[in-house]
Amino acid sequence: MGLYHSTRSRETTCTAKQAIRTGIAADGGLFVSDALGETTIDIATLAGKGYHELTREVLGILLPDYTADEIAACVDEAYGTTFASDEVTPLVPLTCAPGGTTDAPTFVLELFGGPTSAFKDVALQMLPRLMARTGSADTTDERIMIVTATSGDTGKAALAGFADAAGCGITVFYPEGKVSRVQELQMSTQEGANVAVCGVRGNFDDAQSAVKCIFADRDLAARLAQQGVMLSSANSINVGRLVPQVVYYFAAYAQLLRAGAIQVGDGVEFCVPTGNFGDILAGYYARRMGLPVSRLIVASDKNNVLFDFLTSGTYDRKRPFFTTSSPSMDILVSSNLERLLYYASDGDCELVAQLMEQLGTNGSYEVPAELLARIQEVFGCGWADEDDVARAIRTCWEDNSYVIDPHTACGYHVLSELPCVPGTAARVLLSTASPYKFPRAVAGALGLFCPPDDFACMNVLAKATNTTPPAQLANLQDKPVLHTDVVDIDTMPAYVEAAASKL
Ligand SMILES: *Cc1c(COP(=O)(O)O)cnc(C)c1O
Repeated sequence: MGLYHSTRSRETTCTAKQAIRTGIAADGGLFVSDALGETTIDIATLAGKGYHELTREVLGILLPDYTADEIAACVDEAYGTTFASDEVTPLVPLTCAPGGTTDAPTFVLELFGGPTSAFKDVALQMLPRLMARTGSADTTDERIMIVTATSGDTGKAALAGFADAAGCGITVFYPEGKVSRVQELQMSTQEGANVAVCGVRGNFDDAQSAVKCIFADRDLAARLAQQGVMLSSANSINVGRLVPQVVYYFAAYAQLLRAGAIQVGDGVEFCVPTGNFGDILAGYYARRMGLPVSRLIVASDKNNVLFDFLTSGTYDRKRPFFTTSSPSMDILVSSNLERLLYYASDGDCELVAQLMEQLGTNGSYEVPAELLARIQEVFGCGWADEDDVARAIRTCWEDNSYVIDPHTACGYHVLSELPCVPGTAARVLLSTASPYKFPRAVAGALGLFCPPDDFACMNVLAKATNTTPPAQLANLQDKPVLHTDVVDIDTMPAYVEAAASKL
């Protein structure tokens, strides 16, 4: 029971532990379980549950081969002391609903209280702990090397999660000179005996393609296997990254109940700044597990491929790529959408395989009208251009004295344009990054003078808004730089091999 298989075929099944250890199915599909929704969470008792208890409950359902003790240990390690708030993901009311709609109060779910100030910490603090418990009798001597290419946020959150994790090493590649100063320092100052951080001469797409080649390189895999090392990914297609994100949707509902903002059973809308579709897909899982979600709203930036898909039924990646102030949402292929297609089509592996094949060969696909209609019953969408983002940051500050980052601002803008669907008692905007990760864009949007140095920008922002930068960002300028390697694209495989030999 509770076995996982590929979105593209039911031929082989595996346990949740195996799915987490391997990351992606052998046929290129993503791991899914047909048990999703069979066990639901009792909404009537939610108000009495804290984050740790909810995590144990959700993970126990979705990862059934982990023992209760294993899960409890993972939860303590991941969330015991690493997040700023005891709530882990605290909910903050906005005094003024975005766009002035008054039909439902709006709240911000702050997901950025972890060690790297981005929402990815919620999952990447948990994944290494789950990964560490995936071993079996045949894998006792095997070590795992996580390899990741990053445009900024994922790399640091993965480093923070995997640093000194038992049985694991991590190698992160980032495009040299193309991440923000804060982001580069976050990575280059990372401590830990098992971490390697390396700049790449090229852009993010070059680095990402090279990492995909590294995963597909059988000769490299064979050489690494001789050393007892297996490659794996910390990217958001891993089940172990998706499942921890389901928890905060329930945690938000529990906090709304405790605040008296809603009654048990009331519908809630969630608006999610979206890139790879992992965060919002977790909301869909929560809905299938019994959470009263009246609508899930996909908020995109100028790279609005998901908006076009959700309004027309055609997914087309052949379009210009825009670099925006919300880099973590600058994505043309939202990998986790494949899981939605699977569930919304009642598990039609053949259809999913066909659509993904078309995406690979033609760069586009169109879903049947009936499937689109089923998706539209649950998902709304909108997008923000760069002017909308700046205006949202400014309006949110003026109306609520609350500072948001450019990713969250995309969601704020979309909420301001979309009225609630019927049966909505509250709206929740997921906030995915601290504004201090993007001090220049935020200070600029607020009309503040921005000095050339990012840390000076942080101070300007702090003074003007009477807020405090997270210590782990402000302190970066005083930390020693530990990683200075820079390589060409074609030497990335050799770099991974050298890092693996030190594990
Ligand atoms: C990764 C990220 C997103 C997008 O999340 P997905 O799960 O990829 O949709 C949004 N905002 C920030 C700050 C992120 O780091």
